[in-house]
Amino acid sequence: TEPIHIIGGGLAGSEAAWQAAEAGARVILHEMRPVRATDAHHTDGLAELVCSNSFRSDDHEHNAVGLLHEEMRRCNSLIMKAADKHKLPAGGALAVDRDAFSEEVTRTIANHPSIEIDRAEVAGLPPAEWTNVIIATGPLTSPALAEGIAKLTGEDSLAFFDAIAPIVHADSIDRDIVWAQSRYDKAGPGGTGADYLNCPMDEKQYNDFVDALLSAPLHEFKDWEKVPYFDGCLPIEVMAERGRETLRHGPMKPVGLTNPRNPTVKPHAIVQLRQDNALGTLWNMVGFQTKMRYGVQTEIFRMIPGLENAQFARLGGLHRNTFINSPKVLGPDLKLKADPRLRFAGQVTGVEGYVESAAIGLVAGRLAAADARGETLPTPPMTTAFGALIAHITGGHIEAEAYSGARSFQPMNVNFGLFPPVTISKPEGVKRWKSVEKTQAKRRAITSRALADLQGWV
Ligand code: FAD
Repeated sequence: TEPIHIIGGGLAGSEAAWQAAEAGARVILHEMRPVRATDAHHTDGLAELVCSNSFRSDDHEHNAVGLLHEEMRRCNSLIMKAADKHKLPAGGALAVDRDAFSEEVTRTIANHPSIEIDRAEVAGLPPAEWTNVIIATGPLTSPALAEGIAKLTGEDSLAFFDAIAPIVHADSIDRDIVWAQSRYDKAGPGGTGADYLNCPMDEKQYNDFVDALLSAPLHEFKDWEKVPYFDGCLPIEVMAERGRETLRHGPMKPVGLTNPRNPTVKPHAIVQLRQDNALGTLWNMVGFQTKMRYGVQTEIFRMIPGLENAQFARLGGLHRNTFINSPKVLGPDLKLKADPRLRFAGQVTGVEGYVESAAIGLVAGRLAAADARGETLPTPPMTTAFGALIAHITGGHIEAEAYSGARSFQPMNVNFGLFPPVTISKPEGVKRWKSVEKTQAKRRAITSRALADLQGWV
């Protein structure tokens, strides 16, 4: 039978190769290192961890990435096996000895009788005779291949860096302060005229906020990480530097909006939040991309009225990152609509993180192996962490009515906002249910539903 060609031997490609081979397929894994280097990798090992050595929380009951670990373990994941074998003490997190981890993955793949490793760059779109391909070339996809992908998907469907505005969990926004309204009540396609949540600021609050931005420490960039600024996509602290009034004429402009609780007083500035997922559980801060350090971002954004207790699904950032506009160009089976020979996996699909990348590789490897057998495997259900992530990158298995569809696709870590909500009831005998306890109970309900539903897919 035709082999599966996997391009990229990183976290996603290594997991995909292992899964496909274990499912009985023949695999050729194309990895360009050491023939051609990237700006971040230092070795020629497969699944090299380019920065931190942490796979984050290993708590599969209360943490979304911990749940992803567990789902991967239950699917015979090579990345998780190697991580568990070479783990280091790190409290509740799963941290690994990076060299031993990468050597383990490299050795296991190299010794697998159904996997051949080809150390060469795939410098352009794969040749026509490759009929079952997984592209897992990561955030630093080589320019020649990136160019080929851009030609096929259209230039605007491939991004080379992410300018990320922070994303807030809906249930942490103070609804007694914010109100729902689109600027000038414009409905737009699929909208209601009340698609945004608005946070009002008076003059003093605005000035304090600008002062905080001006004094915030910034994330230090390595040379190759430097990204060009485009007007229209400037970090908010850069806008604040350009003048005290700049933000008030940019993303914080207070026009076309009326606070129903105080209709006669015009707010001095307004921060808008836009729905970010079909479920309505995540809201992004419109135009708030930033390079400020993570710790201060939380502190400064909680100065905004209505966000005093905000919980962030992700903070703002600006990084080098090659990724496709997956909701537009990929089907739920991770295949490119424009050329279904090609499946995508890993960070290049718009997930973020080692574990998330490997998880998409796991699913892609199994889907490709099913194709090779002439079968079709469904995508994991959206109630699982696998399925929730895939729904995020491919535009969702469900369409909520309230969703106006106006989302700007940006990479994201797995988080509970991506899962369909659960309803839970107060345990009997409990008078006052503390909100921490309620949150933990909700998380347990989501994670136990996920593991039960995963079983069916496995
Ligand atoms: P990679 O692991 O990068 O694997 C892609 C592979 O494809 C590479 O081995 C590359 O050599 C190869 N390749 C590229 N183009 C070609 C081609 N044309 N032909 C053949 N081979 C090719 N995530 C975290 O969770 N924690 C972190 O601390 C973290 N730090 C990061 C730091 C940096 C500098 C970067 C860029 C990303 C970081 N990430 C981090 C994000 C991301 O999780 C990792 O990049 C992760 O390695 C992505 O897995 P992947 O398999 O998609 O890509």
